[in-house]
This record gives sequence, structure tokens and C-alpha cells, in this order.
Amino acid sequence: MSNDDNSAVIEEKGSNNDLETTKTSYDVIIIGAGPAGYTAGIYCSRARHETLIISGLLPGGQLMNTTDVENYPGFEQGIMGPDLMLTMRKQAERMDTKIIDDVVTNVDFRSKPFKVLTGSNEFESKAVIVCTGATPRKIGIEGEETFSGKGVSYCATCDGAFFRNQDIAVVGGGDSCMEEATFLTKFASKVHIIHRRDTFRASKIMQERALNNEKIQVHWNSIIEDIKGDEKVQQVILKDTKTGENKTVQMGGVFVAIGHEPNTELFKNQLEMDENGYIIQKENTETNVKGIFTAGDVHDHRYRQAVTAAGFGCMAAIDVDKYLTEQK
Ligand code: NAP
Repeated sequence: MSNDDNSAVIEEKGSNNDLETTKTSYDVIIIGAGPAGYTAGIYCSRARHETLIISGLLPGGQLMNTTDVENYPGFEQGIMGPDLMLTMRKQAERMDTKIIDDVVTNVDFRSKPFKVLTGSNEFESKAVIVCTGATPRKIGIEGEETFSGKGVSYCATCDGAFFRNQDIAVVGGGDSCMEEATFLTKFASKVHIIHRRDTFRASKIMQERALNNEKIQVHWNSIIEDIKGDEKVQQVILKDTKTGENKTVQMGGVFVAIGHEPNTELFKNQLEMDENGYIIQKENTETNVKGIFTAGDVHDHRYRQAVTAAGFGCMAAIDVDKYLTEQK
């Protein structure tokens, strides 16, 4: 479940984190510090490559906005998202990965060594792993922020089990929405798909699966006007976009499944991307630029799990090791 209070974790962060670092040249720079970035750091450092992670705005990534994580293997009782990320960070630091909490403002992958700029420094490296992740799109209403982690979620796989025997709303109309709504029927007493138009954009087969499920009810031409509750989500105010009428429906949770935005703005015109802005891997984890690799949600819109991102981080680091060895 999501949770925005990360202050304790941020204070507790490792000591290997001075912005005034004097060393600016590395074998590998990893941009982004989610499961992909930290795992790549652990593997690169263990392969004895001098490795720098530049964490970005939210060190730890999407899991910093999560409470219980029950599907990351190795934690029988589950683990809090920020605790998992802090553990990964400390593990990377123990392997001698240098980590700085700064934001990359520009990159130059056109010539070697590659250049990675932050507000306060210019770094260079022989290889780069891009692990900048993706951001779930938001509906943009006040209640969404208020109840984020208190009934509003962006990941059914992660949070569905917390909503047993409750009515749940799923917002969207694409494949993700159909998939999440169908998945949530395992737990919910009823799933309400809230869609702003009168037809879905999802593939026919996914639509059929959802529409044939007797636990799913579709509210066509509807948007969520407001979300209400005390500590947690209790009600959703739905607005019919055709008639303008509002109705209140009792709900225990709201899942927002209106797509993700890959965090790839920085790399436009340098790395090849698909039509949705996800970076394309050309050969294994390598991009169209030799020496630039990628791992996690920034290229993977299919699986989007912490454990798969960590797996991609490992794969990219192994590819980097091979690349650097061949360069010698
Ligand atoms: P998507 O295809 O972009 O669909 C987003 C949906 O959310 C659309 O129906 C859109 O409505 C709605 N939406 C967007 N902004 C909204 C807003 N502010 N308020 C309310 N509704 C809003 O995103 P996706 O479903 O995440 O899929 C992304 C890609 O991954 C697609 O190519 C999809 O095929 C693929 N995918 C595949 C699978 C699979 O094959 N198993 C599973 C998941 C995703 P409109 O239709 O009115 O624009």
C-alpha cells in the first residue's frame, strides 16, 4: 500500500552521499535508484567497476510510496517498501557503489566518455545504465492525493489483497484497467470499472474477459469527481459526463489504471524509444547507443514489478561487465 511519509528513511540514509564529491570519472554511471538501479549497482561494484548511482528526485523510486510489499521474495512476512529500498541501498554501498542524491539535468551520449550532468557536477563514464523508471498517471483530483496509500492505489498486483470482500473502483479503459479489474475480482466483492467514454480502448479479448465477469460492473461515461472517507476511502462520487448527474457509491478502494509515463524526457533525440516513450533495447539490455544500457520500468511496460526491475538491473550489469571487458 502506498504511503508518502518517507522522512525517517531519508534521514537514515547511508553516509556515502556527499554532493561535493571530487571524483567525477567512473566506469559506470547508473541513473535512477529503484530496484533496477540498486541491483545494477551491486552487480557492477562486485565486478570491480567503479560505479556511481545518481538517485534522482525520489531515491528508492516507486516503492518509497508503498507500505507492505508481500511479493518480493526473501521476506516471509513481507517488508515495508521504504525498508526494502533502504536495505538495497545499504547493500550497494557495502559493495562500494558511490551514491549521490541529485537530479540529472542533462546527458550527452553522442561521444565517449559519456557525460552525465547534475545541477552541481559534470560526471563522465565508459558505460551508463538508465534506470529512471516510470510514473503512474494520476487522475488529478484532490481526494486522490489525500487517500494515496489509504485506499487509492496504482498497482493491483501489489495492493489487491488488502481489499478482500470490499467494493473497489478501477479507473481506466485500456488493457491495464481490464487486467487489473479482472485480477481484483479474486479479492473484491464487486469491481466497478469507471470509464470516461462509452467504448473501451482495450483489446477485444481483454474487454470480453472483463465484461463476462459477473463480479465486474462498468460505469460508462463516468468520471470520479471526488473520493471521501475518514482515515481510508469509503465513498466515491461518480459524475455522469452525459447528464452531469452525481451519485455516491460505497467503495473500500480506488485503483487508478490510466497508464504510465516512462521517465525518458532526458534521453529524447539520443536513445531510441517506442511510440509511448519507452526506451527500446536493441541487443539484450543495450540501447541503440553502444555502451548505454537500460533496466526496469523505463523500458518494461509489461511486467512492472520490483522483482523484475531488480532482475533487469542484474542483466544490465552483466552486459556492462562484458562490454567493459571487451573495450579493454
Ligand atoms: P492506455 O492504453 O493508454 O489506456 C489508458 C486508459 O485510461 C484509456 O482508456 C483512457 O481513456 C483512460 N484515461 C487516460 N487518462 C485518463 C484520465 N485522466 N481520467 C480517466 N481516464 C483516463 O494505458 P494502459 O491500459 O496502461 O496500456 C498501456 C500499454 O500497455 C498499451 O499498449 C496496452 O495494450 C499495454 N498493456 C498490455 C497488457 C497485456 O497485453 N496483457 C496489459 C496491460 C497493458 P480513453 O480511452 O478515453 O483515452
